[in-house]
Amino acid sequence: VKIGIDAGGTLIKIAYIEDEKVNYQTFNSRETDEASKWIKEKFNNPSICITGGRSEQLAGLLDAQPQTVVEFDATASGIKYLAEKQGYQLGQNYLFVNVGTGTSIHSVKESQQERVGGSGIGGGTLLGLAYLLTGKLDYEEIIRSASEGDRGNVDLKVKDIFEGSLPPISGDLTASNFGKKNAMASKAPSDADKVAAVVGLIGEVIVTISTQMAFINDTSSIVYVGSSFRSNPLLKEIIKEYTKMVGKEPVFLKNGEFSGAVGALLTL
Ligand code: ADP
Repeated sequence: VKIGIDAGGTLIKIAYIEDEKVNYQTFNSRETDEASKWIKEKFNNPSICITGGRSEQLAGLLDAQPQTVVEFDATASGIKYLAEKQGYQLGQNYLFVNVGTGTSIHSVKESQQERVGGSGIGGGTLLGLAYLLTGKLDYEEIIRSASEGDRGNVDLKVKDIFEGSLPPISGDLTASNFGKKNAMASKAPSDADKVAAVVGLIGEVIVTISTQMAFINDTSSIVYVGSSFRSNPLLKEIIKEYTKMVGKEPVFLKNGEFSGAVGALLTL
C-alpha cells in the first residue's frame, strides 16, 4: 500500500490507495501518536512519502524511514492530479493559493511552481481571532457560528459611508473591516457576527493579495486549496465572488486540502 502524508502546522493530512481509489484521513497535528498508531495498525509494510513542517516529528514515530518530498512541489503535483481528475482545464499557467494555518501563493508555469507570495493571514488567524473575540476553540463550532452571523453589524460598507449619495464604487464593498465602531458601541454584535466578520476579513485579505498576484503573473485561473475551506462556505463564497468580480476564474478542488498528501503519494 502507498501512503502520502502532509504533516502541517494544524492538521496531518493522509492520502492512500485502497481498492484502486484514493482515500483520505485527517488527524490533528498534536495527535502524531494517534496518526502513527493508525498507520501501523491499518497497513502492513506500506511505502510512505511524507511532506510538511511536521514531517520529521511524525517520521520518527513510524516503523520504517519514509521518503520525503518538498512540500510546495508536492502540493503543486497534487493540485494538477486532482484538477485533471475533476475535469478542470487549468492550462500550463495558473496560480494556486494554499490557505492553511497561514497562506502561501504559488505561480505555476509549464508545470513548475514558484512561490510568489504569502500572508500570515490564514486559517490559524481565524481560530486565534475567534478565540480572542468569543472564547470559542472548536473549529466546527466557530464555523457554524460564522454561518449564522451578520458581518453587517461589524464591518463598514462603502454604502454606510456614502449614506444616500451615489458611491464611486459598489456600495456593497467593504470600506473598513471591523470598522462599524459607533454602531457596535451602541449595540454590541453577537459572537456569530464577530466570527462572520473574522471570516470576511481573512477572505478579503487573501483574495486581494491572490488576485493581484494573478495579474502580476498573468494567470487567469486561481486554484484555492487548504483545510481552511473545510465546512466553510462563507469563506469560499467571499473568495469566489471577489475573484470573479476582478475577471479571474476561481477553482475550488474537491479534497483540495489533501493536495500535499496526494502529491506525496504520487512520488511513490
Ligand atoms: P496546515 O498544513 O498548516 O496544517 P491546513 O491546510 O491543514 O494547514 O489548514 C489548517 C486550517 O484549517 C486551520 O487553521 C483551520 O482554520 C482549518 N481547519 C479545518 N478543519 C479543522 C479542524 N478539524 N481542526 C482545526 N482546524 C481546522
